[in-house]
Amino acid sequence: MSNKEYSQLYDPAFLNKFGSKKEEIGQLTLHDDNPVIDLNQIANILGLEVTEEDLAVDGFFKKVDKHIVINQNVSEGRKRFTLAHEIGHSQLGNDEPAIAFRGAESYTDDEQLKEVLANKFAAELLMPNKDLLIDLMKKALCDLGADPQHFGYFERDLALSDVSSRIKVSSEALKFRLLNLNVLRNN
Ligand SMILES: [Zn+2]
Repeated sequence: MSNKEYSQLYDPAFLNKFGSKKEEIGQLTLHDDNPVIDLNQIANILGLEVTEEDLAVDGFFKKVDKHIVINQNVSEGRKRFTLAHEIGHSQLGNDEPAIAFRGAESYTDDEQLKEVLANKFAAELLMPNKDLLIDLMKKALCDLGADPQHFGYFERDLALSDVSSRIKVSSEALKFRLLNLNVLRNN
């Protein structure tokens, strides 16, 4: 592996969601020795203000002043997923302060769809590239002394934990992404 520009990692259709900022974001570099997507730099390029506060919800996006607020009281992986989700709302053209404080059970179908799309955006933003994820999983399995072609659930979960901490996402988010990309099988 080697350093890669974000433009090499993201699908062009995904980069298009950043509009006039897509080239600037595409020129950011993912470093081989620290393959963590730099969400703060992306938010900065997009002109979004990001702050952390003591919240009862994970976070929200205020469209009117381009401000994302993240709950300070959760793990780094969860904070990053929320930030990626709120960046998603900002690029998909919707905000959610009214939704965020009402509780998921009262969402309308339209609001549910916006949440699903923002979560999909977040997964792709944080974990863009299937080949990179496969490389990282193989390396983690080799480091555990496992055979990357034939490994058990125990080794799989250890590798998920290792890779998720390297790329700073939760283990659950990584597992879900790898299932969606058909890298892992759901059995
Ligand atoms: Zn949302």
